[in-house]
Amino acid sequence: MNGETVIDIRHLKTSFFSKKTELPVVDDVSFSVHKGETLAIVGESGSGKSMTALSIMRLVPTPNGEIVDGEIYFNDRDLLKQKEKEMFKVRGNEISMIFQEPMTSLNPVYTIGDQIREQLTYHQDITRREAHQIGIEMLQTVGFSRAKEIMGEYPHRLSGGMRQRVMIAMALSNNPQLLIADEPTTALDVTVQAQILELMQKLSKEYDSAIILITHDLGVVAELAERVVVMYGGQVVEEAPIDELFDDPLHPYSEGLLNSIP
Ligand code: ADP
Ligand code: MG
Repeated sequence: MNGETVIDIRHLKTSFFSKKTELPVVDDVSFSVHKGETLAIVGESGSGKSMTALSIMRLVPTPNGEIVDGEIYFNDRDLLKQKEKEMFKVRGNEISMIFQEPMTSLNPVYTIGDQIREQLTYHQDITRREAHQIGIEMLQTVGFSRAKEIMGEYPHRLSGGMRQRVMIAMALSNNPQLLIADEPTTALDVTVQAQILELMQKLSKEYDSAIILITHDLGVVAELAERVVVMYGGQVVEEAPIDELFDDPLHPYSEGLLNSIP
């Protein structure tokens, strides 16, 4: 384990309410992530992985969803106690999130350059010209050789893998201390998946960011993560360094998960 704790989640509980019934979907979840560390969250569909991520960002779907209990310490302040205005800053600058399908995060009617410049000038005190230059460098960092031309393209003109690389560039543009990637490669084909994962690995080392990587792909976990949290039915059923999980899974569900690898 290296260095300081970036995020420390304690007894988090998030529920959906319908009429008078409460359905907990994140149920007493605790874990922490350190600087420079990649923590994987695995678990079957519906086990509460995305709701955990959205809870950290305080983006639980309203009006039915609600964080009902727990603490989320991020740099020693409890995110659940921050005002919305403060959270807005946290989301823009300190925690970034990448979602499964990048098309839904990019606006189809603006060019990539428009969107990158907009994001950069929104969160940093720089001119559009400076933002443009930084944007080109960002795109180069995520592997675009013709970054200048990409700036002028509309999202639909790029492949899924290219769009996801744009999203990673944007997510990293403010040097977030924590990157949450929710199934970042699920929608992509295998070769592109490998590229994206390699890129995330490189960047996490370069920037020393903490990463929460949500995936149902244990191959990806073995490749990238140092530690893994296994979720089942809204709860953490196992947490272990990656080698331990693979060598000796404690929970029957983790064992089943490992046995399911082809
Ligand atoms: P995962 O990401 O592990 O596949 P989710 O965190 O998305 O799972 O979902 C956890 C549970 O929360 C699921 O049972 C899902 O049906 C439920 N859920 C997610 N979004 C909503 C919503 N908007 N309204 C009601 N239930 C929801
Ligand atoms: Mg999900």
